[in-house]
Amino acid sequence: MPQRTEIFPVTRHLIAPAIGIWGTREPKQRWLKPMLRADELACQLFSETEAGADLAAVRTRAVRHGDGWVLDGHKVWTSGARVSTWGVAVCRTDPDVPKHAGITVFLVRMDAPGVTVRPIRQMTGGESFNEVYLDGVVVPDADRLGPVGQGWKVTLSVLAAERLDSGTLGLDNADRALELARRCPAGEVQRDLAADLYIRTLVQRIIGLRITAALEAGSAPGAEASVGKLYATETMARGMANATVLERV
Ligand SMILES: Cc1cc2nc3c(=O)[nH]c(=O)nc-3n(C[C@H](O)[C@H](O)[C@H](O)COP(=O)(O)OP(=O)(O)OC[C@H]3O[C@@H](n4cnc5c(N)ncnc54)[C@H](O)[C@@H]3O)c2cc1C
Repeated sequence: MPQRTEIFPVTRHLIAPAIGIWGTREPKQRWLKPMLRADELACQLFSETEAGADLAAVRTRAVRHGDGWVLDGHKVWTSGARVSTWGVAVCRTDPDVPKHAGITVFLVRMDAPGVTVRPIRQMTGGESFNEVYLDGVVVPDADRLGPVGQGWKVTLSVLAAERLDSGTLGLDNADRALELARRCPAGEVQRDLAADLYIRTLVQRIIGLRITAALEAGSAPGAEASVGKLYATETMARGMANATVLERV
């Protein structure tokens, strides 16, 4: 067992739901149970050095070869690549159409010949990110997720789930800061900070409920998931700042 890493929620909350949406019956049976049990972990082979914020600019090529595909390219910032069985690779299958239309997604075995993982050492000494080189990696067509050329939509399913999952960020800290405020004899400034944080946690939870309700009604989360992610990031920053002020009381 790898130590607990972010790759557990990445596998179970981000990638498994996308397989649930895009996989046909057979891949669902093959991938979903091991992933939901965390027997097999999966990482996101999305970012490249020239395709980060502009993810649709991916250059990693997948070319049809017999019953399968051959992948060549270079991915970066891949969290958990060293402990993953599978990598969800966003690839260019048609360079002659507008960039969003020429993308297809594959599940690549991380131990396949031609896959090389290189850890990136951070300033903190940690090595959670990796570079992943794909050199002539053969992937059977059965490991394609979603239709050829529809990979952008598949990618968005993963990213929407990621934004939804990130929507709970900061709530723990905010709750702790509020608990601190309850126990402190606070002045007006501190009370204002606590009230601001309290309102934010309520709004954040309501955004989460709204997205969950949309999902249960069968629609894919769209802009509201992005709003939830932005809001959660701000709550996290304010939670830390306000907790520092409240701790001084
Ligand atoms: C904690 C963490 C985990 C990650 N894990 C993974 C992972 O597992 N797999 C994976 O594939 N990737 C992962 N990433 C990478 C992440 O998805 C990328 O960092 C992200 O897509 C942004 O790409 P970039 O860093 O190359 O920034 P860039 O795209 O270079 O952007 C740099 C800055 O320029 C701005 N910018 C970019 N384009 C424009 C434009 N056209 N107009 C205006 N402003 C622009 C951006 O907003 C940003 O402020 C992870 C990142 C983090 C922080």
